[in-house]
Amino acid sequence: MPTRLNHIDGRWLPAASGATRDIIDPADCRVIATVADSDAADARAAVAAARRAFDTGPWRRTPASRRGAVLLRVADGIAARADELARIDSTNNGKPLREARADVADAAACFRYYAGLIGAPQGGVHEVDDAFGPMHAFSMREPVGVCALIAPWNYPLLMASWKLAPSLAAGNCVVFKPSELTPLSAVVLFEILVEAGLPAGTANLVLGTGPNAGAELAAHHDVDMITFTGSTTTGQSVARAAVGNLKKVGLELGGKSPNIVFADAELEGAVEWAMLGVFFNQGEVCSAGARILVEASIKERFVARLVERANAMTIARGLDDADMGAIVSQAQLDRILGFVERARAQGARVACGGARHVAGDCANGFFMQPTVLDDCTPGMEIVREEVFGPVASIQAFASEAEAVAMANDTRYGLAGGVFTSDGARALRVVKALRVGVTWINCYNPTFGEAPWGGCKMSGYGRELGVDGLLEYQQVKQVNIHLQPGRPGWYGDRADARASD
Ligand code: NDP
Repeated sequence: MPTRLNHIDGRWLPAASGATRDIIDPADCRVIATVADSDAADARAAVAAARRAFDTGPWRRTPASRRGAVLLRVADGIAARADELARIDSTNNGKPLREARADVADAAACFRYYAGLIGAPQGGVHEVDDAFGPMHAFSMREPVGVCALIAPWNYPLLMASWKLAPSLAAGNCVVFKPSELTPLSAVVLFEILVEAGLPAGTANLVLGTGPNAGAELAAHHDVDMITFTGSTTTGQSVARAAVGNLKKVGLELGGKSPNIVFADAELEGAVEWAMLGVFFNQGEVCSAGARILVEASIKERFVARLVERANAMTIARGLDDADMGAIVSQAQLDRILGFVERARAQGARVACGGARHVAGDCANGFFMQPTVLDDCTPGMEIVREEVFGPVASIQAFASEAEAVAMANDTRYGLAGGVFTSDGARALRVVKALRVGVTWINCYNPTFGEAPWGGCKMSGYGRELGVDGLLEYQQVKQVNIHLQPGRPGWYGDRADARASD
């Protein structure tokens, strides 16, 4: 099995130290690949390559239409290798194959979207007064420079695409670091980037751990911008490290998102969407609707149906395409089980699940039962902290005001949903939620055309949509004097303006 390598300055390179690490299938702990285990020295080499490419290379000077053409070829390349990519992410992350296939389709769509968007007008013309004489002022949008992109393990290919497509479309040169747990689809994506004709050094791949390679990227003074998706704690350390050269920072962090179900909601539909909200991708989703708030009068019926549906879920390794696959790692499984145990100790009732799933072949991997914890109260850890696993906490509310207050009683602000047949109430609640993404009578649909991101401790900045491109650009103001000659004194002009 050849070792998967870094891609730096157009070359496939081992870690400078020669270190490697094994990558496993979390469904059975089988080693499926060996990759370079890079550290700060490799991160520095990648940054140096990106810096050179940005300062002297062709990419940012390439017309937008031709950058777009390269990105379209990337999208075609992803589509051509869709089956391979889906199998890699399913095997490496543990997710069901059909969910991995959807990720691949979304990844290709993301490159296509930004390939087209970069051709739209960038910047604007500004009407300014004539106190300095006749002027023409306009602003142009430029790439930020060298961008470091750090992704988590829950959507390996998709998170890579959410970051690489807009940053490259904008003309930046980048260093990408995938999670140490799930780097394999990124290696294929970089093969596709090379085949698509991206100039050497424009996009660099560093395979390594967060503390070794990631921290160096966050701190490096030649990095102009860093975007990070992952936990709030690591996001804070990235933001702190970025202060050294005041690099631009985008953070998409954790959440504990409320899903509010009113008594007038269509119950069956609300249950099915709630399942999608909390069990999709094994619950390893930043926007997971893990905090289900149910109007007291229907709580018993809602929980009974949710439990019935959760108990009917199939669980198997990703390639077997059950309803849920494996949790990404032993550490993550232990973390989830720890949350459940503490919730139980604090008074939550385990309505279903609550334990590791060990039936049949699953005993060799990291599987978790879909879990519903009832009778949760606001102070419990389980309603305050992100679990990142298939665990729903249920709380009852008595009024709309109480539901909104409970929903906002969190340090996070990524997403929220509301189920009701009262349209005005749906809009009132959505407007009152302090979050970045909301859903009415659905939960979790995500679209590449619309901005994605949160507020409060869920981070700042946006990915996807037009906003996602703007993040990777900076604005330059250009002022042109239209009449040759000497300026007057500023005071004279101020007097003239005051008398207007
Ligand atoms: P992290 O936030 O630690 O990891 C996310 C990415 O950051 C990975 O690529 C990681 O590398 C990298 N990283 C880690 N430390 C640093 C650092 N000091 N500087 C720069 N980059 C770094 O998440 P974990 O994988 O440890 O998961 C822990 C918890 O985080 C989960 O249980 C979940 O609650 C939350 N999480 C939230 C996500 C979200 O989308 N909101 C996504 C992933 C996790 P490496 O893989 O080598 O550690």
